[in-house]
Amino acid sequence: NREWHLLSRPVGWPKPEDFALVETPVPTPGEGQVLVRNKYLSVDPYMRGRMSEAKSYVAPFELGKVMQGGAVGEVIESRAEGISAGDHVLHFFGWREYAAVDARHAVKVDPEAAPLSTYLGVLGMTGLTAYAGLLRTASFKEGDTVFVSGAAGAVGSQVGQIAKLKGASRVIGSAGSDEKVKLLVDEYGFDAAFNYKNGPVAEQLRAAAPDGIDVYFDNVGGDHLEAAIGSLNEGGRIAICGMISVYNNTQPAPGPKNLARLIQTRGRIEGFLVGDHYDLQPQFVQEVGPWVASGALKYRETVVEGIENNLEAFLGVLRGDNVGKMVVKL
Ligand code: NDP
Repeated sequence: NREWHLLSRPVGWPKPEDFALVETPVPTPGEGQVLVRNKYLSVDPYMRGRMSEAKSYVAPFELGKVMQGGAVGEVIESRAEGISAGDHVLHFFGWREYAAVDARHAVKVDPEAAPLSTYLGVLGMTGLTAYAGLLRTASFKEGDTVFVSGAAGAVGSQVGQIAKLKGASRVIGSAGSDEKVKLLVDEYGFDAAFNYKNGPVAEQLRAAAPDGIDVYFDNVGGDHLEAAIGSLNEGGRIAICGMISVYNNTQPAPGPKNLARLIQTRGRIEGFLVGDHYDLQPQFVQEVGPWVASGALKYRETVVEGIENNLEAFLGVLRGDNVGKMVVKL
C-alpha cells in the first residue's frame, strides 16, 4: 500500500518536500469495517486549508500521517453487515491505495448507474456544492442574471449550467484560459465568458453583463468579488463558496473596496459550506442525474493516473491545469 503523508506545513505554494509517498502494509479490516481498494481519489482546493495549522471547520492534517480526501473504490473484504466484497463505496480515506473503512462511514455507489468518478464530481460533493449554493444560498430564481467565477472548474461549470436549465436570463462565467472560455460558451451554453488574465475583471464583467448581475457565485474572491459587487443589481445576492485566489497567500489580500454598495442595492452576501446541505443530496441526484444522463448538463473531468501523481494532481487544481473535476485514477 502506498499513501501520501504530510511532512511539513507548506508556506505559500506547497512544495514536493512538504510531502512523502510512503510504503505501508495493506491494513487489516477490524470488526464492522471493510477493506477498500481505491479506484479514484479526489483532489480539491479545500485540502490546501487542511495542510495549514489554522483553525477551520475541519481539523488540520496531522504531520507525519496519511492525508484524507474523498475516494471511491471496490470492497475486497468485508467484516460489516450490508456491504459485501465486490461492492463499490464512496468514503473519505483518499490519498492512499488501500483503506480499512468503518462501514458507517462508507456509502454504497452503483458503477452501473454512473461512472465511478462522477460520485466525486458531477453527482458528488462538488455537484452538490453548486446545487445547494446556487439554489439555497444565492436564492436563485428564474430570470436572474448569474455570474460565476472558476467557471470551467468542477463547481463553477455546474453552477452555470444549472442556472441555465432553471431559466436564468443570462449566465456569465470567468476562467483562466481562452480554451476554457471557449468551452464555457460552446459546450456549456454560457451566454458570455471572459479570461480574467486578459484584463481587469470589473471591465470585462461590465462588458459581458451591461445590465448588471443578480447573483454572483464566488469561487475565487479578490478582484472577482470586488467586480461582482460593483455590478450587483438591487436585491442581488452573492454566495461565497470559495476564495481560491488567496489560498496560497502569505500576506492578507487587499479586500473589496465597495462593500457599502450592498446598502444601496439591499444586496446579500453569504458564505456556505456544502456540509450543511446534505439533506439536499437525494433531491440533487434526482434532479441533476437525469440531466447528466441525457447530456442536458455536460461535464468534463481531468483524470491523472497513478497514486505517485496524487500530489501533482492536487497542485494542478491550484494552478488551473484542470477542466472540470480533477480526479486521480488508480
Ligand atoms: P475547480 O475544479 O474549480 O479547480 C480550481 C480552479 O480554480 C482551477 O482550475 C483554476 O482555474 C482556478 N483558479 C486557481 N487560481 C485562481 C486565481 N488566482 N484566480 C481565479 N481562479 C483561479 O475546483 P472546485 O470546483 O473543486 O472548487 C471551486 C471553489 O469552490 C474553490 O474555491 C473551493 O475551495 C470551493 N469549494 C467550496 C465548498 C463549500 O462547501 N463552500 C465545497 C467545494 C468547493 P482557472 O484556469 O480558471 O484559473
